[in-house]
Amino acid sequence: MRSIPLPTIDDSSVFGKITASKRGTRKSLLKTLEGTIASAYLEYDSHAPNLEAITDLRLTPEEREALLHAYSVETIPMRELREDLTSPINCVRCPLCGVGESSTLDHFLPKERTPQFSVYSKNLIPSCGKCNTLKNDLFVDSNTGARHFLHAYYDRIPTASFLHLDAKFDHSTILLSYSVHHVLGLDKATFDRLSSHFRLLRLSDRYRRMALEFLRGEGRSFERCYGKHKDSARLAQELAEKAEDWEATYGPNHWLVVLYEKLSKWREFCEGGFRLLSKLH
Ligand SMILES: [Zn+2]
Repeated sequence: MRSIPLPTIDDSSVFGKITASKRGTRKSLLKTLEGTIASAYLEYDSHAPNLEAITDLRLTPEEREALLHAYSVETIPMRELREDLTSPINCVRCPLCGVGESSTLDHFLPKERTPQFSVYSKNLIPSCGKCNTLKNDLFVDSNTGARHFLHAYYDRIPTASFLHLDAKFDHSTILLSYSVHHVLGLDKATFDRLSSHFRLLRLSDRYRRMALEFLRGEGRSFERCYGKHKDSARLAQELAEKAEDWEATYGPNHWLVVLYEKLSKWREFCEGGFRLLSKLH
């Protein structure tokens, strides 16, 4: 979960180029929709990130189809838009989860619900396939009307430490459990959104698996630091410094920052418990 810079793309120009790349009825439909789409983009900007209030456009089935076709059928301007949004280095990893590679674009407002934003750059979030699939057409809670997910371009991720990790030994293995905790300064709506984002994208299990896989590769490094003198304080210090280093770039709520912090304070782990890592499957 992290924020990324708002794209600075000339969206009316992109829409015009996509329109020009089409043929026949679709081309003429998109052409007549240009003014409507420009107004819809302004409405998006004025509401973001609280896009629950966006009004539905009255579109004919043919207009809806043409707008969805504009995104789903690859054209040169659509391919350029995709590359512009996914190529920046700070978008390489999916901002929704922070673990997968951004290989797709997720429509923050689902395109089936609001096809007028099917090719709007500010509605297209670089994301991994897993997040895109899990998010699907979910947007708001049907009971409360509150939106489920953080908008990577508009929402600022709280700087308070809300990501928590429980860790313990269980017989011959290490159990990890990530969760989102309420902290002082976090308003209820933000906390609820963080919680639903975390739950619906199954981040607890995905972070746990990433952490265990990552730690397996760190075993030799931990052993070298611990050394023949069994220096658990040195290992704890090393882990704390790694947490600080990662936090400087990714903030306090990155799964790896939380992992290193937890391990640095886990006495049994630093006193040789880390050797269980070599037995993880
Ligand atoms: Zn993801």
